[in-house]
Amino acid sequence: MKFPEKPKTKKQVYLDNAATTQVDFEVQKEMEKYISESFANPSALYATGQETRKVIDQSRKTIAKILSSQTDTVVFTSGGTESNNLAIFGIARKYQNSGKHIITTRIEHPSVLEPIKQLEKQGFEVTYLKVDQNGQVNTKEFLEALREDTILVSIMYANNEIGTINQIDKIGREILKWRKNQKTQFPYFHTDACQAACTLDLSVERLHVDLLTLNGSKIYGPKGVGVLYKRRGVELEPLVFGGGQESGLRSGTENTAGIVGISKALELVEKTKKEDIKKLRDYLAQEILEKIPNTKLNGLELDSEKRLVNNLNISFAGIEAEALVLYLDEYGIMCSTGSACSTGKREKSYVLKEIGLNKENIKGSIRFTLEKNTTKEEIDYAMEYLPGVVEGLRSV
Ligand SMILES: *Cc1c(COP(=O)(O)O)cnc(C)c1O
Repeated sequence: MKFPEKPKTKKQVYLDNAATTQVDFEVQKEMEKYISESFANPSALYATGQETRKVIDQSRKTIAKILSSQTDTVVFTSGGTESNNLAIFGIARKYQNSGKHIITTRIEHPSVLEPIKQLEKQGFEVTYLKVDQNGQVNTKEFLEALREDTILVSIMYANNEIGTINQIDKIGREILKWRKNQKTQFPYFHTDACQAACTLDLSVERLHVDLLTLNGSKIYGPKGVGVLYKRRGVELEPLVFGGGQESGLRSGTENTAGIVGISKALELVEKTKKEDIKKLRDYLAQEILEKIPNTKLNGLELDSEKRLVNNLNISFAGIEAEALVLYLDEYGIMCSTGSACSTGKREKSYVLKEIGLNKENIKGSIRFTLEKNTTKEEIDYAMEYLPGVVEGLRSV
């Protein structure tokens, strides 16, 4: 095995922003006060407690505005996983007497698929929609899956592995039509927008969703904090019981610093320059596909409007992706084999399988995800070593 010589000064080039992003300095600054100085419990009656309450209310207002919604529709949680669980179990348990059918897709994040699997064990029927070779849901197939007893539809806004964006607004409009024709309030429509929040429109009015999941850790905000948007009139059975915080939907002392952080992060995200990220992503893609033989782009074309601008998923034939990730780390280059959440289990990507990749291409697939501060120098640094490492691994 012959690998490129190690750099004299090792850089840190982080290309795994779909796993989590670095906290923006402005977000950190905003949060600091609520970690130490303003620590009072927002339920306390004295002035400092009431101040914290005010800050939480202000954050809720800021987020509601970004979602084009009312303040009381924003529920704070511990992250994307909890928001997804609350949406799915919350609806299923509240409305199980109205129907026991759920529609979702085969390429959802595990934090959607696993709760739904649990419900399946408890007697719910589930339709797992297939996706096309790009990872998109077919609206016609979706309509065919709708039933009188469908109470919930959960379809992700953008996929975490291949960056494919679904037409949530179109599906939302179809659901509205169905409800009107059937004279029913069902199904409710949930979307996991964790990967979408950095670059896509989050107006729940335009998307026609009843529930929407966000988290801090994918938008240059803190980890361990999330939002569940819940349209007025939609009811949820809580998952966590206790002091009745978050209008009884999520008990527990509020994570003030986290809430301030996710609110600031969402505000900043609106300033993200999509074009700049896309240019660099396209540059990296072009370099890899031109300079490294037997490589293949997975998912939609780079110029498609339906692909997240920061996502690149590439198969390197004849290589074990885990090995490539570990070797690249030696040079300070961080990327991923797909979803961080399933890496530990060493399972091959079900997302890539569903879009029809063969075993060989799944095995050698790597996800590079850029961020707003990624530089051309970083991409060039990565390209100094990537071709050599691939060649080294292929010569084993
Ligand atoms: C990261 C992610 C989640 C989970 O969010 P956590 O805050 O880590 O719980 C859910 N869905 C998608 C699409 C994600 O990318």
